[in-house]
Parts: sequence; C-alpha cells; structure tokens
Amino acid sequence: MNVGLAGLGNAQVNCWPMILISGSSDTTQEDMGGFQEFRQIEACRQYTKFAARPGSIEQIPFVVEKAFRTSMYGRPGPCYIDLPGDFIQGTVSGKVAIHRQIPEAPKYQADTRDVERAIEVLKTAKNPLIIVGKGAAYAKSEHEVNHLIESVGFPFLPTPMGKGVVSDTHPLCVAAARSKALAKADAIVLLGARLNWILHFGMAPRIHKDCKIIQVDICPEEISNNRETLPLVGDISLVVRQLTEGLKGYQYSQNSPFLKELKAKIQANTESNEKRYKDDSIPMSYHRVFSEIKQRLPEDVMIVSEGANTMDIARTVFDMYTPRLRLDAGTFATMGVGMGFSIAAQVFHPNKKVVAIVGDSAFGFSAMELETAARAKLPLIIIVVNNNGIYHGLDDGEFSKTAFEKLPPTALLPETRYDMIAEAVGGKGYFVRTPEELGKAVNQALEEKETVSVINVMIKPGGKKKLEFGWMSNPEPKL
Ligand code: ADP
Ligand code: MG
Repeated sequence: MNVGLAGLGNAQVNCWPMILISGSSDTTQEDMGGFQEFRQIEACRQYTKFAARPGSIEQIPFVVEKAFRTSMYGRPGPCYIDLPGDFIQGTVSGKVAIHRQIPEAPKYQADTRDVERAIEVLKTAKNPLIIVGKGAAYAKSEHEVNHLIESVGFPFLPTPMGKGVVSDTHPLCVAAARSKALAKADAIVLLGARLNWILHFGMAPRIHKDCKIIQVDICPEEISNNRETLPLVGDISLVVRQLTEGLKGYQYSQNSPFLKELKAKIQANTESNEKRYKDDSIPMSYHRVFSEIKQRLPEDVMIVSEGANTMDIARTVFDMYTPRLRLDAGTFATMGVGMGFSIAAQVFHPNKKVVAIVGDSAFGFSAMELETAARAKLPLIIIVVNNNGIYHGLDDGEFSKTAFEKLPPTALLPETRYDMIAEAVGGKGYFVRTPEELGKAVNQALEEKETVSVINVMIKPGGKKKLEFGWMSNPEPKL
C-alpha cells in the first residue's frame, strides 16, 4: 500500500491512467486497531481522480467500472479501489451484475473560433514551432501529427516522452537545436505538454515573451497555466485534424531564415557529438558508451531510462522512430522506476527487446527487482552506467584516500559489482571497462531469450565538479 502511494503520485503528476487495487483490514474491525489498519482511501484521495471502497461485495463491479472509466476519460489519471479482507474472503449469494466493457473515451474537437484564431497566428508566423508532448503519444495521434508536419512543413521538437510520435530522424526535427528553437519561435503549437519545468514554465528568456503559444490539451484547466496561451481544448488527434484542414494550401517556406539558422545549429551540434562518440579514452565517456550500445540495438527496441546524466545524455543520443517505446523518470523525475517499468514493458511487449539504461545510483533504488525479472524469465537487458556516484563519483584512489566524513555525499563505493546481483538470481552479468568489452556484452545479451542480463559499464567518475541540474533556474539546457 505505502509503495502504491508513490506509484499513484507518479501517475497523477504524469497524467497516466492507472488503477491501484489494495487489500485492507476487515470492515468488522474498523477503528479497532486491526492488522495493518490504515486510512487508505483518505491517503490515496489526494493522488487520485477517484478512490473508493465498494459498499458491499455486490458493489465491486460498479466501483471497478467507475475506476477504470474515470482513469481513462478526460485527462487520464490514477484511481484507487479498496478491498477489505472480509470482502476478499467473502462470498455472495445469487448473481453479481458484471458491468459492460468500457468503450474508448469520447472525443471532442476545439471551438471553431479558437481554431480560426490559431490558423491566423500560424499563417503569419515567421518562426513557427510544434512541440510534441507525451499527451500526443497517449492520444495515439501519430498519424495526424505526422500528416500536419508533412503537409505544412513546420519544424518540431519532442519532449522527452513525446519522442517517436514523429521520428527523431525526420528532417524537420529540430531537437538538436532545442534551446535556439524555443527561444526564437514566435508561434508554438503545444501538443499535449504542460508549461511546467520541462518547458521552463513557458517563460522568457527560454521562450520569447511575445511568442504566441497555441495550447492543445484535453484539460481546460491547464490552459494558460503560467502564461497566457491561445486555447484549443479537445482531443489531440481531432484538433490536429482541424488545424491541418484549416491550413490546407498553406506551406511554410523551407528556405526561411529560422529553418536555416536551426539547421546550421543542428549541424554544429551533430559534428561535436560525432567527435564525442569516437572518444577512445578509458574510463569511457557517456557518449562513447551510448554510441557503442546504439549501433547494436534493433530499431523497435523499447528503451527505459533513469538516472541523472545517464538519462539526460541518453535521451539526446538514442533516436526514437515510433511512439510509446520510451519510458523515463517522467515529470516527477522519480528514481527507482526503471526496473518496474522494464518488467511491465517486457510483459506488454513480449516480442520486443527491452533495454534499460540506468545510472548506478538510480539502479540502487530497485535493483532487487532483478529477482522478479529472473523468476518471470524476462530477457531484460539492464545497462548500469556506473560512475561510482550520484551525478559524480570518485575513482578508487580518490575514494580510498578520502576520510569517510570528507567524502562528497554524492560518492558511492567505487566499482560496485551490480553485475553480480544478476548472477545471484541466475541471470547473466558483465563487468566492462572498454568499448570492445561493452560491444561484446551487448551482442551476447541481445541473444538471450529468457535470461535477464546486467551490463555494468565503468565510466569516468566525473570527480568533484560543481553540480548543475536541468531544473535549476538558469542552467544550460539539459533536456
Ligand atoms: P510532457 O512531459 O511531454 O511535457 P505533460 O505530461 O506535461 O507532457 O503533458 C501532457 C498533457 O497532455 C497533459 O496536460 C494532458 O492533459 C494532455 N493530454 C493527455 N491526453 C490527451 C489527449 N487525448 N488529447 C489532448 N490532450 C491530452
Ligand atoms: Mg552515477
């Protein structure tokens, strides 16, 4: 139950549909101090759209139907169903009504006057930009969004979990010039992404103060949060169709100074990354590690990512070609989700390769779930990018000559053998230091059919550098 609360909070802040069902102490012992008695419904209420205990066993189907429907309709979110022990053990006489299968959420379009205003803004924009958020992925709007971008020619960039709705390799993807695109845009179409920390609250200087933001969202209360926007309230697939229809016959100039500037920036950034991919130094750098992994993965790989630098840098290196194949720490930046996400992803996609790329500190939050993966015979590949620390670590020499009280709080033990945890549960473990060893380990792990693999990759610890975070007020862009 207590663990479930963290999941509910995570689902709520990410706008994900989720149902938590938990047992609770018997109704006949309420307020008597029963075994594990706890005010579960009250505890869950603030993290859910709906939280209830059925009034009787006969009421269970009604509550289940309502919870599922509520979690999926409107803005998705979590719901909680409380089942006391005496209901679980109980029996009913006669038939219990089983509710209908829940139809897909009803969809609605935006107000046509709002659409007209948005079209006017887009047709006159010099520097238009589409931001594809994770709402677009959940709305399954890839067909419509690709069609809009193809027919109008606007550049776009995805948010971390919006990656793949339109392929990262699309020529109009300007993710590699993200900061410039955001700062210079004079009109933005926001497709299912909130103006929260991930998008710098929509504020200047990261997004121009005069930029007109057209906000497409299913949730009216989200409109103009943090800054005034032009609303297009409705389902993304339907609203994007309205926009494409309204822009029929219009084409954004592919020779515009904005596109030229972005392309030049992309070129420069790509060249400097190419150099980093070839970095031969040992211990390896993040970029070298990711480049060795990337060239070996199939295109339809499911990627799970968590950590700090590990997640931030991996996001920029691994291209996504299709939506909903990438899970990361999300809006809450929750560490510990990696193993749970990987196990769930592999169960959902039994025929796909699931690869988790996790920092050593992040892995520590849920590493023991390897036992679950081994028990279920899931061929997960967990790659622990190990810098001996949280953000930064120390190498063996620095660590052993520093008194315990003087160790930076970010330091973890050097060279912890995470790979051996895999072996302890009957999986495969690889401890690697060089690009060659890493490449071999990835190739071997990809061959496994029902055995979990952990590849423990030693990288540069990063030393005692000053810490910089993506969410700080004025940092260099991290996402
Ligand atoms: P990101 O992390 O990609 O920036 P957010 O989680 O901030 O994305 O925002 C996702 C948004 O998508 C939420 O505001 C949610 O209301 C919206 N959304 C979810 N499903 C749909 C849908 N079917 N149609 C329109 N908007 C949706
Ligand atoms: Mg680390």
